[in-house]
Amino acid sequence: MAIIKIQKGTKDILPEEMSVWHFMEEKANEIFTKYGAKEIRTPIFEATELFARGVGDTTDIVNKEMYTFEKSERSLTLRPENTAGVVRSFIENGMHRLSAPIKLWYKGPMFRYERPQAGRQRQFHQVGIEVFGIKQPSADAEVILMAINYLKALGLNDLTVELNTLGCPVCREEFKTKLKAVIKPYLSNLCEDCQSRYEKNPLRLLDCKSPECQEIFAKSEIQAVIQGDFICPECAEHFKTLKEYLDTLGIKYERNKLLVRGLDYYNRTVFEIKSNSLGSQNAVCGGGRYDSLVKNLGGEDTPAVGFAMGMERLASLIGKIEDKKTTAFVISNDVKEALKLTEELRAENITTEFDLSNKKFVKQLEKASKTAKFAVILGEDEISQNKVTVKNLDTAEQKTIERSNIIKFFK
Ligand SMILES: [Zn+2]
Ligand SMILES: [Zn+2]
Repeated sequence: MAIIKIQKGTKDILPEEMSVWHFMEEKANEIFTKYGAKEIRTPIFEATELFARGVGDTTDIVNKEMYTFEKSERSLTLRPENTAGVVRSFIENGMHRLSAPIKLWYKGPMFRYERPQAGRQRQFHQVGIEVFGIKQPSADAEVILMAINYLKALGLNDLTVELNTLGCPVCREEFKTKLKAVIKPYLSNLCEDCQSRYEKNPLRLLDCKSPECQEIFAKSEIQAVIQGDFICPECAEHFKTLKEYLDTLGIKYERNKLLVRGLDYYNRTVFEIKSNSLGSQNAVCGGGRYDSLVKNLGGEDTPAVGFAMGMERLASLIGKIEDKKTTAFVISNDVKEALKLTEELRAENITTEFDLSNKKFVKQLEKASKTAKFAVILGEDEISQNKVTVKNLDTAEQKTIERSNIIKFFK
């Protein structure tokens, strides 16, 4: 019969890769907990409208990349990102009543129907943070610190923070107007995407990767608008204070005025963190402030700031982590005795295996030497004398001890 294959853009995470994933997940829990963050797990599918309103209906994610399906006349969508879901849960569970800040972290699979390419999958994983309730730049600073400390804990050094401010709805509106005015003469030369973004979300023009558009945006009169400072005094103060906090902590950052992030909901601070591990620059984290999203999704007006990281990218930068060897491998042809002894050892938290297929001693020993640190031999002699022989598989040293002393030996 024909075998059924895995779907394009998806990937099995195989047992030998699991050490890296456990490492990423354990470090996330460890680092984010230090900052007082709590984990939240929201459903993988939500009402389609949540993403249309929460991610923005001018984004590629919502327009082209969502896995949407109908069930009982409801339109449902596999989450393409997790901020909208976390915000939905925040509102629905009345978390605005808790004392601020409310710090939530998450990890899990996301789904986007993208053309599969190196490092991009249709089912991928993100780990992220959302901090609610603080409008001051101290929250922006803390979110950036959480990201940096997490990346460092994963062994990724040589990090660069790229920083920008998108202003608030008031000053950004002015910027958009100026930007549209200066781009207008070239409108018909822009790519199709840019032509449709021009009205709906002109900031996203800056995100365009098409060479023709880049060439147009490089023109001096357009650059003058992009590089000019448009932000209002309050937004300027917020940005300045954030930079002072980062300076105080010795966090290096660069201003990147083209950094707008792909999502509609950001305001003021946006940032990306790049890692230079493996010789090339890789964006490993993206985030920013989204003060209007909670309200836009029907909640109380609550400022928020967060980030997300792609875990497949992180995994590729971390590289391989060797699996830990099993501590003990019980070798015996007496299945009952082997079962008893392995369970005794496991009850004491000693990782233990034995050969379930009851092969010859030499075969069992061969297997043990590949996977375990110690062979615990229960031959006929040992069983009749109530003893065990323990062999260190690295040094080949071995000794026979009382059966009752086996736990003490491993402790
Ligand atoms: Zn402003
Ligand atoms: Zn374009």
